[in-house]
Amino acid sequence: MAIAELNHRIWDPVHECLARADLERLQLERLHSTLERVYHRVPCYQEKFRQAGITPGEVRTLRDLARLPFTTKEDLRLNYPYGMLAVPMRDVVRIHSSSGTTGKPTVVGYSRNDLNTWSELVARFMTAAGVSADDIVHIAFGYGLFTGAFGLHYGAEKIGATVIPISGGNTDRQIMIMEDYRSSVLVCTPSYAMTIADRIERMGHSRQNLSLRVGLFGAEPWSEELRREIEQRLGIIATDNYGLSEVMGPGVAGECLVKRGMHIFEDHFIAEIIDPDSGEVLPPGAVGELVLTTLTKEAIPVIRYRTRDITRLHYERCACGRTLARMEKTRGRSDDMLIIKGVNVFPTQIEEVLFQVEGCEPHYQLVVDRVDNADTLEVQVEVNETIFFDEMKKQRAFIDLVEKRLASILNVSAKVKLVEPASIPRHEGKAQRVIDKRKR
Ligand SMILES: [Zn+2]
Repeated sequence: MAIAELNHRIWDPVHECLARADLERLQLERLHSTLERVYHRVPCYQEKFRQAGITPGEVRTLRDLARLPFTTKEDLRLNYPYGMLAVPMRDVVRIHSSSGTTGKPTVVGYSRNDLNTWSELVARFMTAAGVSADDIVHIAFGYGLFTGAFGLHYGAEKIGATVIPISGGNTDRQIMIMEDYRSSVLVCTPSYAMTIADRIERMGHSRQNLSLRVGLFGAEPWSEELRREIEQRLGIIATDNYGLSEVMGPGVAGECLVKRGMHIFEDHFIAEIIDPDSGEVLPPGAVGELVLTTLTKEAIPVIRYRTRDITRLHYERCACGRTLARMEKTRGRSDDMLIIKGVNVFPTQIEEVLFQVEGCEPHYQLVVDRVDNADTLEVQVEVNETIFFDEMKKQRAFIDLVEKRLASILNVSAKVKLVEPASIPRHEGKAQRVIDKRKR
């Protein structure tokens, strides 16, 4: 579909199309108010600012933000559970927590205004993806402390769509309900969308029985190749959105139908890109770690939160009419980045290579180990029936091809192991792409 034919509806045209100078004026005003609040109400921030030798009053321009200390996940852990609150507990109306995989999770609280802002921002990216009051939204994220399901739920209700809060699990039932209730929008992780597509094909159902037209996928990094695969197999427009519970949840940024990056809702968040090693702010257009400062959050504002997500920001005007900066799909978290023989490797880079090779299925797993003091990387990939396991020669040639492509992209050698279709475990939440045996 040509861009000109797309209907670029905008939920909040006043704030999504501000001139840069007006946006920056609004950001500075909101930043001042946020800094005053955290300085006087959150002991952790008062201490951090004192150590950095700065007071909120000394932040006169947006550039001065770079003088403020970072907030890390560790700060949230140290203040577990309620130490980061900037409002009394009686003003907190909802608690969520991060889907932390190790140790204590981090707790986030929302005031009534925070919940309102959250659903407004989710309404923005849903509208940007073409969702309207006419849609039936199938939310297959697990409902619970994780922010994904509730975030999308209230955003969809805000725009007047019909919500099916099916939650995660039981893929066959998900498919039956999608068919019968005529779900038109699917909300889940991109890997679960693939699991659904697989299951539909294996059940012998046709995607023509589905009414799906749009997918809103998030909560894990995914490649452009995986997007094309999902779009083709489910017959939908697949869009990306971004958020993290420490900052709010989904609704920090979302894609419009131009699909050239996710618009960051800069009237509510200031985005910076830093060098993850030195902490220096990088110039516009550089690839680095995304750092976010909240401008309107009441219960748990965060100042310069280090997201660990690696991306790049674009400031040129978008064809959709929004003036908000766009962030590229995240390349993975700096935490997920594998260091193999001293080389930085992201699972999404491997995914991109696999998707370009005819015969590879979009299911893979990386096994990292250390043998004789050297790191090893094995890429287990499912192959479809066009690869004959009984023809050793052809199989060897295929493996050589994939290994060569991987080596040229990753700058490190990987061993490829072909596995039977459907042999890598499927997940209903986030996919487990990496098994790092060095960590045992
Ligand atoms: Zn746009």
